[in-house]
Amino acid sequence: MAIFLDNLPVNLSEDIVLNADIEEKCRVVYRQHDDNGMNDSDAGERRTNTDDAGGISDYCFYDLWNPDTEYDDRCIIVPLRTTGVENVGFTPSAFSNMIGSKDDKNNDKNHPNVSWVMLLELNGIPVHSCGMDGRFYNPRDNRSLDDIFDDHGNLQKHFSCGGIIVGGRVCKEKENRKTASEVYLFPICTHHNVYSAVKGGGTGTGFYMKIGNVRRALKLQGYLRSAVVMSAISEQKARTD
Ligand SMILES: [Zn+2]
Repeated sequence: MAIFLDNLPVNLSEDIVLNADIEEKCRVVYRQHDDNGMNDSDAGERRTNTDDAGGISDYCFYDLWNPDTEYDDRCIIVPLRTTGVENVGFTPSAFSNMIGSKDDKNNDKNHPNVSWVMLLELNGIPVHSCGMDGRFYNPRDNRSLDDIFDDHGNLQKHFSCGGIIVGGRVCKEKENRKTASEVYLFPICTHHNVYSAVKGGGTGTGFYMKIGNVRRALKLQGYLRSAVVMSAISEQKARTD
């Protein structure tokens, strides 16, 4: 079972606006890096950190916390204020969903997704429509695709934006990744969040996106140093023992 870790150092840019509801619901899941290829999609980018015990054990961004999901014991669940969140200009030529994006369709007003959207709004990032240009692009030939599969695997001709706006987690790459040194929270529609360019290929994957009229995003750091995490875990254990 994942560990809720509330005692990591605060790492929050001064201009970030939070409220109690966001503090409670907007938590981020990091997972201990392993050598089993979990993150091999970006092996070239990842910093190679070897801790004193000789293992590579950075904690990598894994997911925005969903209370309905079970996370394994390599995961830690941390408050937003420890993730180095920053309000930044966001104008990449291409960006894509992080692999693992899921379950953001929930329209329940108590669902944490609403809090992620509220967080964007509180920080001046417009959430009234999808931040994309309305299309999706093939990373192999850079052409705009007409056909896309919905989350039930049904072919949708002439794709368009639709559904609700969610706080999508994206990275500045054409190819979907499981981890990246920077992960961005950005307003996207359900279709851009969960549809796929490949039948049964997973939600939000197989295509990249281009910016529309939203030019800012909240940046989270993609990695937490294992030494810092380990010491916070032992401190927390010492307090509860
Ligand atoms: Zn959209």
